[in-house]
Amino acid sequence: MSPQALDAPQAAIAPEFIPPTASPFDRGPFDEAVMTTYGRFPLAIDRGEGCTVWDTDGRDYLDFVAGIATCTLGHAHPTMVEAVTRQIQKLHHVSNLYYIPEQGALAAWLVAHSCADRVFFCNSGAEANEGAIKLARKHAHTVRGIADPVILTAHASFHGRTLATITATGQPKYQKNFSPLVPGFEYVPYNDTAALEAAIAALEADGPRVAAILLEALQGEGGVRPGDRAYFQRVREICDERGILLILDEVQVGMGRTGTLWGYENLGIEPDVFTSAKGLGGGIPIGALLCKAHCNVFEPGDHASTYGGNPFACGVALAVCEAVGAPGFLDQVRDRGDQLRAGLREVANTYGDWIEEVRGWGLINGLVLKESVALTSVELVKAAMGAGLLLVPAGPKVVRFVPPLIVTPEEVDRAIAAIRHALDQMTA
Ligand SMILES: *Cc1c(COP(=O)(O)O)cnc(C)c1O
Repeated sequence: MSPQALDAPQAAIAPEFIPPTASPFDRGPFDEAVMTTYGRFPLAIDRGEGCTVWDTDGRDYLDFVAGIATCTLGHAHPTMVEAVTRQIQKLHHVSNLYYIPEQGALAAWLVAHSCADRVFFCNSGAEANEGAIKLARKHAHTVRGIADPVILTAHASFHGRTLATITATGQPKYQKNFSPLVPGFEYVPYNDTAALEAAIAALEADGPRVAAILLEALQGEGGVRPGDRAYFQRVREICDERGILLILDEVQVGMGRTGTLWGYENLGIEPDVFTSAKGLGGGIPIGALLCKAHCNVFEPGDHASTYGGNPFACGVALAVCEAVGAPGFLDQVRDRGDQLRAGLREVANTYGDWIEEVRGWGLINGLVLKESVALTSVELVKAAMGAGLLLVPAGPKVVRFVPPLIVTPEEVDRAIAAIRHALDQMTA
């Protein structure tokens, strides 16, 4: 593309970036060279536009995965194309040896649109949570004089795949064979006030020990389980009484996913620290650690990331933020979420012997299969794929619906029809 095209209207930029035809895909070289860390579905995606993706054979799918709750504006959105093009032609990386104007502008936007006062940028959700863990430990050591701090997290949580974040993740399957894990983590059941109070009373019998409580406002990977409002309000009180930091992992539910900009807005509380990633860059890798002024304990040299806060990721993320912050955008997310849940509840009524419930907020929703039936989430996801709809499991019995936030009413209807078709087949 020529530099002059930057001045052209947005619609004129996009078509040049869409390859004209799909090319057939040979799995052989892929399977021989790529590490076997993922169980992949037998599908190779070639291109996307809005909420539709095309495989390498040219077949189209309605994308209710969005790169796992990440492609906020869908695929090839003119705002993304324009921001990526502008930023790569201007400046993409220089390091934090220097001031980066785009980083400052994105931080200022996030501070203006959240309870946080300060932001640190990195590249992923796990990296943001690592930063939060380090911040909480430093706060415990230097502000509260705790020599041996503990961070409490929840069963069925998910916080990432680094050593500290698999330790924080309260699911043994992610920790198996990776010991020794990182010390200083304890686990409590999610949404259980009595269990939390008992755990803290035991840990702090001889004085302050708990640096932080780290929770998701809604557990995403762990089964699309919304946080309970009364529970989170009690967590906030306990943290205030004892000086414990409340850290919320907003990696999956932040950036408008739940119909509010941040997941915590659904709970009527504010965290001291929170993390963002997935939706923040609309699919461009970026993560953020955000905190209130009172726990802004990092000093120069304490924490760093070579790519963190680079002009490219920040310039694109700022464009995504401004799109999500535009008047009416989050109203649409809430309306589409209501439409999707209503449709899924009708489906659940039809297949009452198979489906336990429908739950979620905004555009993160789970269709929960009954424990007693043989059908698994992976099998249903495969059947939906056959019906032209991409979905993602959230554990063995929950199928997750996380479309781009720009999904249209007609696309929601088509997704409901496709899941109905898939269930028809699976239960026949
Ligand atoms: C996806 C996710 C992470 C990990 O993010 P990565 O970018 O894969 O490191 C952490 N926490 C939550 C809640 C997530 O959904």
